[in-house]
Amino acid sequence: MASAVLENLVRQLQKLPGIGPRSAERVAFHLLREPLEEAFLLADAVRDLKTKLTHCNICFNLTDIDPCNICQNERRDHSIVCAVEQPRDLESIEATGAFNGVYHVLLGHLAPLEGIGPEHLTISALVERVKKGGIKEIIMATNPTLEGDGTALHIRELLSPLGITVSRLARGVAVGSQLEYTSKATLADALGERRSL
Ligand SMILES: [Zn+2]
Repeated sequence: MASAVLENLVRQLQKLPGIGPRSAERVAFHLLREPLEEAFLLADAVRDLKTKLTHCNICFNLTDIDPCNICQNERRDHSIVCAVEQPRDLESIEATGAFNGVYHVLLGHLAPLEGIGPEHLTISALVERVKKGGIKEIIMATNPTLEGDGTALHIRELLSPLGITVSRLARGVAVGSQLEYTSKATLADALGERRSL
């Protein structure tokens, strides 16, 4: 490519998921033709994503206000906490409209073989939340995978001495699947039919 500037943009775009060399070039030339303001809107959005977005200090969801909207919402039931692996799982459950409690984002799952232990997740923060009182039930909504199940069991072990109910999403969610790809109706059923863990 004749321009080092253009070449650099194409190289950066190519790092994005699903963007091959040809798409990267198409996007780069599109941006080149766009008005200055339009291109800057995109650049600012990327900058804001990394500088203004933070994790809620209570539930660890991604947010631009802390505590997040959900944790601040007094119309939600703060005695029921749904624990999920990632912010996108929280979004999936929110999209069902079937849950009016609050959340705890674990920021991953236990994977001993990959060296991911409890200290890499927000598990101790969850235990502290429960110890503060006011929580009656934790719904473990980790993915129905080996790691997700293992994480749910580990957390149950930690929480059961604290005298609260720990439940697990019903098996409507296919084993080995990811919550984010599960249909809203299936996810709503799995929440409704959750069982004690
Ligand atoms: Zn929050």
